[in-house]
Amino acid sequence: MNYYSTKNKNHSVNLKDAVLKGLPPDNGLYMPEIIPGLPQDFFENISSKSINEIARIVSKTFFSEDLSDDDIEWIADDSINFEAPLVQISTNTFVLELFHGPTMAFKDFGARFMSRLMSKLISKQDKTVHILVATSGDTGSAVAQGFYDVDGIHVTILYPSGKVSKIQEQQIATLDKNITTLEIDGTFDDCQHLVKTAFLDKELNKKILLSSANSINIARLIPQSFYYFSAISQLEKVSDLPVLISVPSGNFGNLTAGLIAQRMGLPVEHYIAAVNANDTFPIYLESGKFEAKSSVKTISNAMDVGNPSNLGRIFDMFESNPERIRQNISSFSFNDDETRNTIKKVYAETGYLFDPHGAVGYLGLEKYRQDQQINGIILETAHPAKFKDIVDDVTDGNLELPERLKKYMSRTKTSIGLNRNYASFKDYLISIAG
Ligand SMILES: *Cc1c(COP(=O)(O)O)cnc(C)c1O
Repeated sequence: MNYYSTKNKNHSVNLKDAVLKGLPPDNGLYMPEIIPGLPQDFFENISSKSINEIARIVSKTFFSEDLSDDDIEWIADDSINFEAPLVQISTNTFVLELFHGPTMAFKDFGARFMSRLMSKLISKQDKTVHILVATSGDTGSAVAQGFYDVDGIHVTILYPSGKVSKIQEQQIATLDKNITTLEIDGTFDDCQHLVKTAFLDKELNKKILLSSANSINIARLIPQSFYYFSAISQLEKVSDLPVLISVPSGNFGNLTAGLIAQRMGLPVEHYIAAVNANDTFPIYLESGKFEAKSSVKTISNAMDVGNPSNLGRIFDMFESNPERIRQNISSFSFNDDETRNTIKKVYAETGYLFDPHGAVGYLGLEKYRQDQQINGIILETAHPAKFKDIVDDVTDGNLELPERLKKYMSRTKTSIGLNRNYASFKDYLISIAG
């Protein structure tokens, strides 16, 4: 299957180019030429399917022209080797826990799958592929883990200094081997801008083979659709009411994956894009006019994005028609006080402990649903212990760090400090190109 640029449908490339280049030269985003529908019997039998079976089936639907069944099954099995349990927290309210992978955030799904897909696509190529990732927190660790020690690939991670949590920093800034971390004196948007500028720099791209692992890469988006199918698979065992899904959103990759699943036939009544004070999208839905903003810092920091990079895909899927988007997606913004109060209230009422991102998702669901008799699923995108300071503060508790996170805390920082000027970043890239 080919992948076209959202800025020019006549520019289309094969899977390998779409995945290795990450971004089309016209600064659009790659989209699959066809979003294939899944057969009726897939949905009739969905409740008997594991997430791994779902991963195999959906992957084959997209990639069978490009890779052998054996390769596709290996990629799916080796990357999706953990569960995404659906937990009921009250009547009609469910949480899909996406934090059971190695870095305890949902980005493990996309990052693990993409790294394995890439390694299959480049296996016969000898030039090192340099992956650039701007991270507002969790992307960096998921990508670094996914690619750690993979032959033929070097990863450079950029993160905004002082704007990620201690645990997140320990997970990305302490790695070695084929991973380098740059601590940028700037915001996440600055980091994202540096990466985008490098991709569009013709002179640089003659010297070094650059690739992206941000949620702009289509190879991260497709595997994120798996857990939407898995959510419905698990829910069908308990209830047959219609379903709302609330997605705590930053760059809108997660939501875009849900919309792709819906196009493939997933029965979802409506999506809620729940955002923090970074309210670019709800303002767009209200006014019908898109205007990027600067990002502002919040306690749900992985969603501190003022110019969400996947909106181009959502506009493409709905022909930039705000009315069509509104029929499918509602969006609400919540501030940090509301988020803190929600963590506290839900914990007191149900015993369920949300992280700040999931709490924003919960707020979005309740605001949209009100008294309707309808199932609501909140995507819980990170383990609460990743935001221990905030969660402990709100609940007067002392959350135990899971072993998986504890082992990072004693590591030594190896990151390189850099200012936010493109010239410094370019010098660094040329120095590693060898
Ligand atoms: C990245 C991230 C988000 C936002 O996901 P997008 O796909 O960028 O919208 C939400 N929560 C957590 C914990 C994240 O790491």
